[in-house]
Amino acid sequence: MSNKIPTQDQSPNPVQIHSPKLMHIDKAKIFPRSIRGFYQNIRHVFMAFILFVYVALAWVKWDGRQAVLFDLEHRQFFIFGWTFAPQDFFFLSWLLIIAAFTLFVVTVFAGRVFCGYVCPQTTWTTLYLWIEKITEGERNARIKLDKAPMSVNKFIRRATKHFLWLLIAFATGFVFVGYFTPVRSLAEDFVTGNLGGWGYVFILLFTVLTYLNAGWMREKVCFYMCPYGRFQSVMFDKDTLIVSYDTERGESRGARKKTVDPKEAGLGDCIDCQLCVQVCPTGIDIRDGLQLECIQCAACIDACDSIMDQMGYQRGLVRYTTENILEKKSGYHWLRPRLIGYSAVVLVMMVMFVYSLAARVPLSIDAIRDRNQLYRENSEGLIENVYTLKVMNKSQQTQQYHLTLAGDNTNIQLIPIDDFNLDAGEVSNLPVTLQADPADLAQSNTKITFKVEAVADKNVTAQVESRFLSPSN
Ligand code: SF4
Ligand code: SF4
Repeated sequence: MSNKIPTQDQSPNPVQIHSPKLMHIDKAKIFPRSIRGFYQNIRHVFMAFILFVYVALAWVKWDGRQAVLFDLEHRQFFIFGWTFAPQDFFFLSWLLIIAAFTLFVVTVFAGRVFCGYVCPQTTWTTLYLWIEKITEGERNARIKLDKAPMSVNKFIRRATKHFLWLLIAFATGFVFVGYFTPVRSLAEDFVTGNLGGWGYVFILLFTVLTYLNAGWMREKVCFYMCPYGRFQSVMFDKDTLIVSYDTERGESRGARKKTVDPKEAGLGDCIDCQLCVQVCPTGIDIRDGLQLECIQCAACIDACDSIMDQMGYQRGLVRYTTENILEKKSGYHWLRPRLIGYSAVVLVMMVMFVYSLAARVPLSIDAIRDRNQLYRENSEGLIENVYTLKVMNKSQQTQQYHLTLAGDNTNIQLIPIDDFNLDAGEVSNLPVTLQADPADLAQSNTKITFKVEAVADKNVTAQVESRFLSPSN
């Protein structure tokens, strides 16, 4: 049990967690054996869904526009019917905080299930492993091929594998960039060679990253690069569901004939077949206890259950369970302060998020002063300041807007402009001029406020402050 992770109850100091096995894993190549079973079926459904959504979502249209698009060039973010401006960035931050707390809840409840079932790194690695199995064969064939000198057979298998890996990596990189620049025009420009240099660079970058992460680095990303794996134990308690080996039932381990009664032979239920180790994508032995490397993929559960079935033993020698259930034979404890606390925080934040989103004013305005000239004097001797107003319709319908100068500063006049229409999500750059008689101005730097309101709904208003500059009196 030297590699065991202390839970919060045992050690409040997560910094002391270390894993001597990492040294061993670093040097040894891992050839995970494929396994079927209840949990692997669930995982594969989740992963197929994630891959499908990732690729398909980029191509879905909503109101004639790409449904999910983070248009960095025009500083607009579209998520289905919603349009966000950079000023709405706090919604994204908030969403990330909710996601983090949701992850805490899930981790307190069921350990690293996120890693095993929905993490993109695990998802892509599983897909790559499946291709490796198709092109190079099952575990034993892959080990043999790895040791064999280069031959035509080995070359063809390896080349096919890397070609398919690169193809998937390219599709992944292309779709990823397609979330930041309209994917249809990206495809057209890519094919016709009209994509700017940066477009090619980013697609290449994400292609290479996917290929290296999922094809070459695999579990090493989880060991060395993922921060979540490092702080997970802080959230574990003795009632967290984790993949565990039932030592009491399994030991003493040892081979035996199916016909032998283990009790009579002084043996536990573990036949020491090593299948749980062979299927582990991180190359660990779950019988050594909970380990930092374990991503809770449950492959060892499915493997061991298949052995238990063959031996005619009860399933569950390796299973999802808690330390308290294993040690004290107690039931599962739902009412734990940490689980309730995190869940309550998530719930409150979600309610507040939905409320804020619903109450969000679907209009934004920004004022940019003319940078070339602080002010100018017209033929009538009046001082003029020129601005560009950036007005964005963040609603889902075309709107007509009316611009005024708010506040009680009547000495400064807005040269009137007509009411203007903006389509859903459209941004307009309005040139606007203010003028004032210098004799009426008490100071050379006056605060002014532009106000835009929707003609159809006076509650939809947005204001922005700026300064009116004039020569000193
Ligand atoms: S020990 Fe079991 S659950 Fe953990 S990573 Fe290995 S196979 Fe998956
Ligand atoms: S698969 Fe089950 S029986 Fe085989 S070594 Fe692992 S724990 Fe023991």
